[in-house]
Amino acid sequence: MMAQEYVMKQRTEILRAVCSSGSAEHLERVLDVLLAHGELSWEEYQCIQVQGRPLYTNARHLLDIVYTKGLATCEIFVAALQQVLPEGQGAGLCFPGDISKVEERKEAGRTSTETLLSQRPSLVGKLQGCVGGALEALLQLGHFTSGDCDEIRLPIHTPTQQARRLLDHVSSKGESAANVVLQYVDQKQQYGGCNLAEEKLTPPAEFLKYQKKLRSSVSAQSSFLSTYGGTSHMPLEDIYTQGQLELAHDCKVQGDLGLGDIVGTAGTVNEEADTVLVSGDAGSGKSTLLQRMHLLWARGTALSEFLLLFPFSCRKLNFELKELSVQDLLFQHCCWPDREQEEIFRFILDHPHVVIFTFDGLDELKQSFSEEHRLCCPTQPAPVHVLLFNLLQGSLMKGVRKVVTSRPEAIGPILKKHLCKEIFLKGFSPNGIDCFVKKQHHDAEVAAKVLASIQANTALLGLCHSPVLCWIVSQCHKELLGCGDGTPQTITDVYLMILQHFLQHQSSLKTSKVSGWLQEHLTTVLHLGQLAFQGVGASCYIFSGTDLDTCGVTEKDICTGFLIQSKDMSNHQSHQYEFRHVTMQCFFAALYIVLSNNTDRSTVTKLFELHDMRETCFSSTCFTSCLATGQQQTSAETPNLQITATFVSGLLSQRHRRLWSVCSQTPLVDRKVQQVVKCLSKGMQRHFKSIPPPVEGEKKSMHAMPGFVWLIKCIYEMQESKMAKEVLSKLEVDHLKLTYCNIGPVECTALAYVLQHLRNPVGIQLDNNSVGDVGVEQLLPCLHICNSLYLRNNNITDEGIRKLIAKGLQCDRFEKIALFNNKLTDACMQHFSHLLRTKQNFLSLRLGNNNITSEGAKQLARGLQSNHSLKFLGLVKNGVGSAGACALAKMIKSDTSLEELWLTENCITRQGVECLVQALEHNTRVKSVWLRNNNLSVEEVAEMAQRESRLIF
Ligand code: ADP
Repeated sequence: MMAQEYVMKQRTEILRAVCSSGSAEHLERVLDVLLAHGELSWEEYQCIQVQGRPLYTNARHLLDIVYTKGLATCEIFVAALQQVLPEGQGAGLCFPGDISKVEERKEAGRTSTETLLSQRPSLVGKLQGCVGGALEALLQLGHFTSGDCDEIRLPIHTPTQQARRLLDHVSSKGESAANVVLQYVDQKQQYGGCNLAEEKLTPPAEFLKYQKKLRSSVSAQSSFLSTYGGTSHMPLEDIYTQGQLELAHDCKVQGDLGLGDIVGTAGTVNEEADTVLVSGDAGSGKSTLLQRMHLLWARGTALSEFLLLFPFSCRKLNFELKELSVQDLLFQHCCWPDREQEEIFRFILDHPHVVIFTFDGLDELKQSFSEEHRLCCPTQPAPVHVLLFNLLQGSLMKGVRKVVTSRPEAIGPILKKHLCKEIFLKGFSPNGIDCFVKKQHHDAEVAAKVLASIQANTALLGLCHSPVLCWIVSQCHKELLGCGDGTPQTITDVYLMILQHFLQHQSSLKTSKVSGWLQEHLTTVLHLGQLAFQGVGASCYIFSGTDLDTCGVTEKDICTGFLIQSKDMSNHQSHQYEFRHVTMQCFFAALYIVLSNNTDRSTVTKLFELHDMRETCFSSTCFTSCLATGQQQTSAETPNLQITATFVSGLLSQRHRRLWSVCSQTPLVDRKVQQVVKCLSKGMQRHFKSIPPPVEGEKKSMHAMPGFVWLIKCIYEMQESKMAKEVLSKLEVDHLKLTYCNIGPVECTALAYVLQHLRNPVGIQLDNNSVGDVGVEQLLPCLHICNSLYLRNNNITDEGIRKLIAKGLQCDRFEKIALFNNKLTDACMQHFSHLLRTKQNFLSLRLGNNNITSEGAKQLARGLQSNHSLKFLGLVKNGVGSAGACALAKMIKSDTSLEELWLTENCITRQGVECLVQALEHNTRVKSVWLRNNNLSVEEVAEMAQRESRLIF
């Protein structure tokens, strides 16, 4: 269909698509494009845009004009529509296939006034946050009167409308005024763009009332952390401890990131997108972080640039089976406006930049993210997941900031391209653990004892980096401080500790037998276990009273404290329950698998193969709300099955067998153990089989696929060193690559436990993980099978190095280490120096991008003096300076092994290079010294390069 015919025949649909949201923004954006392309004159524009006239009338007028102008104008108009209303606003608008895109006219016009016009669409965007500043400039230079300014700043205008009114006004004031605006925008873009918070908004009174109501509702929801002690609640602010945040794409930001950085500009990779993803493992503190954001906003102490904050939980959104519009979603799920709903919603639509939505737990949403159903109209009803996906993509409510949390596994590449940035939440730092425990125990003596016992057991210290485990460990301080037998080593140990803690807390009569506590509470464990197990199978995390009844869960079982009542803003009539944490549900599911005599024989195998568990788990018709959606199991489910399987491995460990012997039939438990062992061995074999044959002349290398680290963790939980040994005897590789695998201290413990059984020495590459000092310590048991260790970008400090080298000195095969981008200073150089003096087979030391100065370089030089093996020394991007370079030069003179020295970016001046040149006159072994980006002039570089060809600039 030709564009002109299209404009005529689709008139009704076009009008609806442009106007149905009630906001003039779509129409005005189409007008911007037509003006920029010269398809509308000023007079025509003013005839269309009549203030105070209904939106539909203005739009009809535009259609009349466009149609009478003929084919060319209609083509541009339809292309503009397509750009402004992607996918036809879902309002039955179907664009003709032969319409090409309208390109923004990039070239500047001959005059500034022409440029203002030809670049109008993008100028509107750039100006919208800084109209005030531009007006100020125009006023000061005498182009505008204060009357002009007032007219533009009328509060009825949205920020984009103010920007348009400003452009309209400037065009009548001549060239120099237009020039002022262009320069102002240019300058703002260079220095960080415009900030909407600078602009003063004057919202209507009803809006302010609504804001107050929303604040108090959000505050009530977020003031307490519900996962604390039985029935009492802990105020969030008393316990909140800052977790470690890390930008996925920007290593340049110095210092710790705070909550403000989540919504701020740091680390932005996609300027067009509004969605920030906070990703982290289960229990890393994502929900708590959002809760903290909500509370600070509600109290007005942070995020004050946002006038409204709407919090959502994806877990709860699963229960919304009705189709809703965005308006319904906001008002029904968060806070209902007592009056003037339309006016308030209009204000939100018109000022998207002052609104923020948060969505907790995208991984728990039943549907996987898809771009399939596009929707742009905020008043059009759609299934909740469709609304959510369109919000995240920005096709709905563009400009509203959205923060979403998820476990990393659940985020696919399609969603990633709609993200403004991704932030990793990495749990507590060592200081954080300290701080958290002290907040938990006001009695300083108890706190000190708990900390001491955590620190005495590095496996446990590793676990405590995860906030949820830190909380459990800290809760169970009595068990920890000596009542139990031995401190916990594995995650399963920690969960068993809390199981015992809660059950015994509840019970009036204390059990005398050590293992009797489980027997005494077996029915409760089985009831809760069945609920958890069927829930995991059905991806169900919120349970109705009926679900509880079906699994036999009684009031007494609820009182043990593992289930909590769901908080809900939408006031459900009946009570709903959830486990305190999703990992707790997985733990109970695992208990059920181990203890129950009623599960299907294939359950264990299916679980470890991460099959869809629906059929396996169900014998009854409960969880109807979860199953009603009829969805396939999504990839987001895998992590929960993996966690459950890890617990099953741990529970079936020989160490805990006596617990089950009193509750379950031994042959049954034995069979389950055999099944797990078989699954783990088979799983590992599958990974080994996928190793490609080595390219000739290269080492045989295994790149760990997702799932490999999980299997290793299961073996560790089982504490089956015999199995580890047997499995690893079949692995023959020279290099094991585990980069970007989300490896923290806990994973390091498991890796070392298993990898120490490798028969041949390997290179272990752990770059870009979160190993940290505690993780380094955990790795030591496998250092003897390691010839090279790569730990680039892992948050390691001098303390970690001290321990690493003390062990490394005893490991004959240990020859290479790479520590680029950690937190090393001169203080650990004495250890490297000692290593070099002592180990005469050490080959390569890479220390780039740390904080090493001339003092550190001097220490290293001292070590090198009595070393005869080192071939490669890398000190790129440090602060070695000329003094450091001279110290290194001095030892180069007599060195017999060094072949490459990297000193790129080290603030070295001519003086330092002079020393190196002179030293190289006595050394023929060194092949190259890299000196790029130091403090030499072009002439000096040329001169030095000529004197010594091995210097590389
Ligand atoms: P996630 O959403 O990543 O699964 P949660 O936020 O639910 O993790 O955290 C699990 C538990 O860990 C919380 O209930 C709380 O006890 C504890 N926790 C997490 N983050 C913090 C924090 N920043 N300060 C104090 N406690 C925390």
